[in-house]
Amino acid sequence: MKNVAILATGGTIAGVSYSPTDTTGYHSAVLSIDEIVQTIGPLKAVANITCEQIAQIDSADMSHATWLQLANRINTLLKQPEIDGVVITHGTDTMEETAYFLNLVVKSDKPVVLVGAMRPATAISSDGPMNLYNAVILASSSAARGKGVLVALNDTINSSRDVTKTNTALQDTFKAPELGYLGYIIDGHPHFYRLPIRKHTYMTEFEIEGVAELPQVEIIYGHVNDNGALAYAAAEAGAKGLVYAGLGNGNMSEHMKKVLSDLQRRGIIVVRSTRVGNGVVTRNGAINDDRYDFIAADTLNPQKAQILLMLALLETTKPAEIQRIFWMY
Ligand code: ASP
Repeated sequence: MKNVAILATGGTIAGVSYSPTDTTGYHSAVLSIDEIVQTIGPLKAVANITCEQIAQIDSADMSHATWLQLANRINTLLKQPEIDGVVITHGTDTMEETAYFLNLVVKSDKPVVLVGAMRPATAISSDGPMNLYNAVILASSSAARGKGVLVALNDTINSSRDVTKTNTALQDTFKAPELGYLGYIIDGHPHFYRLPIRKHTYMTEFEIEGVAELPQVEIIYGHVNDNGALAYAAAEAGAKGLVYAGLGNGNMSEHMKKVLSDLQRRGIIVVRSTRVGNGVVTRNGAINDDRYDFIAADTLNPQKAQILLMLALLETTKPAEIQRIFWMY
């Protein structure tokens, strides 16, 4: 049997409610991972499982410190020849961010799978047990090797780069809206249909061993009549980079062009993403990036562009280099 380590961080998969019919009013992050695993009998036949409680939080409270701790622990575990894969239990609200961060800094081709639940463990038809069972199957599977960090809920397999939470309450929430699932997990078997082609995990240039904190990068949400106050406030608060969740193809008003290029000249790196939810932010498309020294986020949503920019800033502050990084990952 394969050996899978489950690293638990809390979330709804560890949540409890007063009533079995409550699916949104509940306490997140209550049950320990040992308690959860004990309730899923069929797991014993899938893999030898070891459990570690890394955190016990609602994923709204996920932090860079916990990301660094988690990533370092995963790298240590996956260096051990006897460990075949890792599962991380996590709240769904920020799962896509943790997954993409790990996708960029885990140094192994062994499977790493994030899983959670939309219904607490106490709900009728809670999705947690089947989701966790499927995640352990995926982490034990040689088919999942070399495909980057994966997100597996609701019988689907998603690439951490492209996946996003698309519904506030339904179980069918994790999707890569236009790019699609990588596959499904049905009756205990992963079925893959496509591959992520952007570089990930063991192929990246990012090294977090010894890194104590990540550079401050803020996200500014574009809207009509934006006066730039939040962008200036972010600079004032010490931001080293800004991600602009722009209009359409990362577009912005004449006023915001002045605000952001002013901040760029003061040494703050500006990445243009979009509030649209799908599609490419193209370099020199809606905005002349060459003129302003801005960076186009490609298809990364603002919260993922923020993560890539933080890691890029550990290496360089050159806009051309950072643009290369955005096209690579
Ligand atoms: N608020 C919860 C969390 O992100 C939601 C969930 O896990 O589904 O921790």
